[in-house]
Amino acid sequence: MSEKIKCLIIGGGPAGYTAAIYASRANLAPVLYEGLQPGGQLTTTTDIENYPGFENGISGQALMEAMRQQAQRLGTDLRHGTVIESDLSERPFRLVLDSGDEILAESLIIATGATAKYLGLESEEKFKGMGVSACATCDGFFYRNRKVAVVGGGDTACEEASYLANICEKVYMIVRRDVLRASSAMQKRVMDAHNIEILWNCNTREVLGDMSGVTGVRIQRKDGEVFDISVDGFFLAIGHHPNSEVFSKWVETDENGYIKTDGKSSRTNVEGVFAAGDVQNPVYRQAVTAAASGCVAALDAEKFLNS
Ligand code: NDP
Repeated sequence: MSEKIKCLIIGGGPAGYTAAIYASRANLAPVLYEGLQPGGQLTTTTDIENYPGFENGISGQALMEAMRQQAQRLGTDLRHGTVIESDLSERPFRLVLDSGDEILAESLIIATGATAKYLGLESEEKFKGMGVSACATCDGFFYRNRKVAVVGGGDTACEEASYLANICEKVYMIVRRDVLRASSAMQKRVMDAHNIEILWNCNTREVLGDMSGVTGVRIQRKDGEVFDISVDGFFLAIGHHPNSEVFSKWVETDENGYIKTDGKSSRTNVEGVFAAGDVQNPVYRQAVTAAASGCVAALDAEKFLNS
């Protein structure tokens, strides 16, 4: 069965919900598919202190739920489902969902976000869900008063390490260079924590474990020294990759898979297809910039549909 939709939005994060809010108010009758993680990456963070309008901060979960409700109240048709196939060669665009249903869309806003990267080690794969995680705020609770390691030196790694430091006995940060990439505010937070130890110039060789899960990490320092640390949890915080695969046959992307958009607009190389949020923005990746680009995408879609 195929259904015709005027404005289809894929992705339930700040970009998708904001696009939905604007598209609803412009009478575009938007339908939004939320994917596997309604609310997106923000539902896995703790408090957000830098989203304007919330003097005392707000939890990622609460912020996303508020945006979701706002989109719904204004008339967006919110649905669960993931796009598994797309044909953007002509209008209406044809999209197939994991349910097998087919959609014909007059315009499409891609706001599918980005997903956490893993190191690609066999041992890491083996212990996924048994001590290996890419989300401290989701899984940190299980490591109360225990020792854990966080890989990475960016803002995410610092944020995750700080969060874990409040729960765990000790947090090691495994950093591959002799500097952190993170902002100075985040670096300070890490430096101020008494139970975070940074292992500089270090790479993970192997995640160690047994039947019960992760027991440690084998680390190699740049000078060649190999040593093991004992931990029960191993958290990845080494960046993300954009969720653009299902559209990349049609929509132009950069070498890392981020969808290219035209200048300050959300227009892709396919007329009628727009991209917003982390799937097209490798630089800023903030809730507020994602929301802003969702707004831009809805305005661009409105202009396209009404021209
Ligand atoms: P980043 O790309 O900024 O940082 C990734 C980190 O992981 C770097 O330290 C990098 O090392 C390291 N790394 C990458 N690959 C490997 C590997 N294979 N092995 C070991 N280490 C590796 O990603 P983030 O997710 O931290 O941040 C993404 C964006 O989101 C940034 O713009 C950031 O500012 C923003 N952000 C902002 C927050 C806030 O404002 N509260 C919170 C979280 C994120 P190297 O430095 O050597 O490349």
